Amino acid sequence: MKKHNFSAGPSILENEVIKKASKSVLELDNSGLSLLEISHRGNSFVEIIEESISLTKKLLGITDTHEVLFLQGGASLQFYMSALNFFNEYGGGYIDTGTWSSKAIIEAKKIGNTHLVASSSDMNYNYIPKGFKIDNDLDYIHITSNNTIYGTQFQDFSEIKRFSKKTKVICDMSSDIFSRNFDVNNFDLIYAGAQKNLGPAGATLVIIKKNSITAKKNLPSYLDYKNHIDKKSMFNTPPVFSIYVSLLTLRWLDKIGGISVIESINKKKAKLLYNEIDRNHLIEGYSVKTDRSMMNVTFSINDLKMQNKFNELCNENGIVGIKGHRSVGGFRASIYNAMNFESVEVLVEIMKELEKKIKWRRIF
Ligand code: PMP
Repeated sequence: MKKHNFSAGPSILENEVIKKASKSVLELDNSGLSLLEISHRGNSFVEIIEESISLTKKLLGITDTHEVLFLQGGASLQFYMSALNFFNEYGGGYIDTGTWSSKAIIEAKKIGNTHLVASSSDMNYNYIPKGFKIDNDLDYIHITSNNTIYGTQFQDFSEIKRFSKKTKVICDMSSDIFSRNFDVNNFDLIYAGAQKNLGPAGATLVIIKKNSITAKKNLPSYLDYKNHIDKKSMFNTPPVFSIYVSLLTLRWLDKIGGISVIESINKKKAKLLYNEIDRNHLIEGYSVKTDRSMMNVTFSINDLKMQNKFNELCNENGIVGIKGHRSVGGFRASIYNAMNFESVEVLVEIMKELEKKIKWRRIF
């Protein structure tokens, strides 16, 4: 039985992407060579990376103002690298919305002054802070658009647009990039590890506004965005496999109609699941309703017996990767772009079945 993979990341990839990637590991497009043994300087790979960049630009509506880079080190390296490159004199301001933004703050503090603009730690990050004010002197502000662990998300970027004209904005979009439309022009730097909506772990997508970084002397070469821009993501050997699979995902996304189409599918999936969470009296959603994530749906089942029953039902129906992160507990269903509607329906059916079981338990 094909499993319904609700893992938070690395996570589900489109079936046709995995099939084509597997074939290309054996032989890349009748070249007589495996994808894994070609030179990154050869024509085949140069075409792969150029198409990956141009499709990213097409799908996200990126014009000449921004560069698209494929780097390594994951989003975790970007925590440090972004602060290193954007730090000026005053330091960055951070919106702390959970584990990943807290880690970004830890790294930024190694560079210099760091300001906590707002935090939702008082409620164990079950909401997104709003109406916060920022100091005009900030070198930049940093947000995490989707909080993978807690299941909260900036619904739109209106909070950020208030500042983006006068302050540089950095955004970690690791777990919701390519899932919905947004205006790239509101951001100076966007970064995302590939392993959710894009491809296997290994590549990190970086979108950077060309005029947003001032050249700095003596940065470690790999950590200087300018080097990667100048060398068109080929400063050193790029993660060939991860970039290739990302390209296959981008082609699939383009083929089905792009971001608007996937956004409406994502909305339907999330609505189906949240409606059931709200209806089912055994299940409780974790995040506040207005800030719910369209990618990571967090919930709990308070009755211990029913929790075990739910786990059993998941096992029987091929549902995997649904255990919540230890800092929240409960369950988390990650419903990224490649998750199809039918798998979410299976999960919802199980939730309904669980409720029927407790009704029977009460009768007998
Ligand atoms: N930011 C977010 C929002 C994440 O979900 C994650 C983990 N998946 C990270 C950063 C860290 O990413 P990486 O493992 O690529 O360093």
